[in-house]
Amino acid sequence: MKYFYKSLITLVLIMMGANLFAAKINLDRIDPPFWWTGMKNSQLQLMVHGTNISEAKPVIEYYGVRVKEIILVENPNYMFINLEIGEETKPGVFDIHFKKGKKTIATYKYQLKERVSDPSLYKGFDNSDVIYLLMPDRFSNGNPNNDDMPLMLETADRTNPNGRHGGDIEGMSNQLDYLSDLGITAIWANPLLENNMPAYSYHGYAVTDLYKVDPRFGTNEDYLTFIKKAHSKGIKVIMDMIFNHLGTGYYWKDDLPMKDWYNEWPEFTRSNYRGGTVSDPYASEFDYNKEVKGWFDKTMADLNQNNEFMANYLIQNSIWWIEYSGLDGIRQDTYPYPYKDFMAEWMRRLLEEYPDYNVVGEAWLSQPPAVAYWLDNNTNKDGYKSNLTNVFDFPLMYAISKAFNENEGWSTGTAQLYEVLSQDYVYSMPDNIVTFVDNHDGDRFYTKIQEDINKFKLAMAFMMTTRGIPSIYYGTEILMTGEEHKGHGDIRKDFPGGWNGDATNAFSKEGRTDDQNEAFDFIRRLLNWRKSNTTVQYGELTHYIPENGVYVYFKKHEGNTVMVMLNNTNEDKIVDLTRYSKSIGCNTKGRSVLTRRGWDDLSKIEISAKSPLIIELSK
Ligand code: CA
Repeated sequence: MKYFYKSLITLVLIMMGANLFAAKINLDRIDPPFWWTGMKNSQLQLMVHGTNISEAKPVIEYYGVRVKEIILVENPNYMFINLEIGEETKPGVFDIHFKKGKKTIATYKYQLKERVSDPSLYKGFDNSDVIYLLMPDRFSNGNPNNDDMPLMLETADRTNPNGRHGGDIEGMSNQLDYLSDLGITAIWANPLLENNMPAYSYHGYAVTDLYKVDPRFGTNEDYLTFIKKAHSKGIKVIMDMIFNHLGTGYYWKDDLPMKDWYNEWPEFTRSNYRGGTVSDPYASEFDYNKEVKGWFDKTMADLNQNNEFMANYLIQNSIWWIEYSGLDGIRQDTYPYPYKDFMAEWMRRLLEEYPDYNVVGEAWLSQPPAVAYWLDNNTNKDGYKSNLTNVFDFPLMYAISKAFNENEGWSTGTAQLYEVLSQDYVYSMPDNIVTFVDNHDGDRFYTKIQEDINKFKLAMAFMMTTRGIPSIYYGTEILMTGEEHKGHGDIRKDFPGGWNGDATNAFSKEGRTDDQNEAFDFIRRLLNWRKSNTTVQYGELTHYIPENGVYVYFKKHEGNTVMVMLNNTNEDKIVDLTRYSKSIGCNTKGRSVLTRRGWDDLSKIEISAKSPLIIELSK
């Protein structure tokens, strides 16, 4: 009997021990959460996260889906599964059983959706478009109930210029008619994905879940509905993505898959923000490393895209969003900051799935050759070919900001515009450059031109008629002001009328001041003309050296001609058109796009001080 009890106690102890030491295994999530059949690339890499998930063995039985490789890494809470999805694979749902021995520990129902080949989706954007950049938190609050959401660390505080103000997707959706009336054809919203950070979460550049819209903006479904509604009104949607960094609050924050998941430094090291070092043939390794591996901010972890699993994670995520939502284009943040070979590979894989797609990269560099390095071409001496389809025109933005503030001279005033454009030979695709006068990172344009509406009209007329794809920052059309040195809140103010109870509503004519209506009506007329005029959209540009303070250029397309004259002086001018006879050709008449005034004689044209003339020529 004594022996029996002793054995029983021993057995119980052994069982307790087994329980104590048996590894707890659970499944937390799988990224991407679902995928599609019929993709050009048959490979899919699943990242599985869960406590000790590496101790389980995934089992998949589905016709056409083959487990090529199961990869375990240094952190037992991760597993990567490489799948091959054959061409004949049918859409459907299959179980991924995670087994330990014969026991199934967890099951994930993985869906393969059918790829929709709808030509109305993911169109890309081109010279027929005018992009409208808006900051979702600051544009319009369509749903005050989502301003504060459970589990989200930062709550709304509209009195704090750096806090969350409550704007959202419903607000964006509510203003689609306003935007359609204004004449824009594409919306680029600053990032909408979850930013569950304790502060400064409103701007969206510290993403904490790449597969989820921030609940304070809405749900993934709300985003899809918004895109559909925008498409129904002829407006494309461009998503803002960031491959360089993620918020330090990302779900894997205390549990990184690998030691080299982020670019780690012995102590916090900030990027030097010198994107030029990446193309600079004389750059020191020290400066290059700081640019590419330095952190954008303490709250923004610098990603190591040289880690192939990280690279796949980002690339698949971008493709997932396009396929999931029918997005038309991508704006990629801080383009020179991630490893450049990774970025080229991303573009290659993206264009493999969507050959006509467009991605505009933010290469914030002030000289045309530095920007051109990033635009597709194969002319770079170091052999780098980015595959990138579009870039922003930072050099022209700087020139525009100066040109209309200066007196005309050999190298001042509109000569600055002429000079920047004359360097377009460095670009493989100059028409693919996105032009702008301001954005969410710099002084508001109306402030830069001393709140002078005449300068404003000159700049807008120029941007909408020269080469490139114009982009307007929200509020520019109603002359919003702001200075970057006062803090980003000053250049990202709430659009008046976007919140219930706002003192004024600039979304309506009645709510705008006379000056605001003058600016709004000017842009509205210009954009609505541009929207249907293929000559200004796709025409071949010829410009003439500015003379007597007037800059004249032409757009020609399929026998049609548009002539643009910018008088950047404080005097009315009579311009003798003899010099432009080659460009005028056999046209004898003209009509102003802005005033509808007509001319029956094209020998001389009078142009008022500090004003533009856009004239459609005819025989
Ligand atoms: Ca809201």
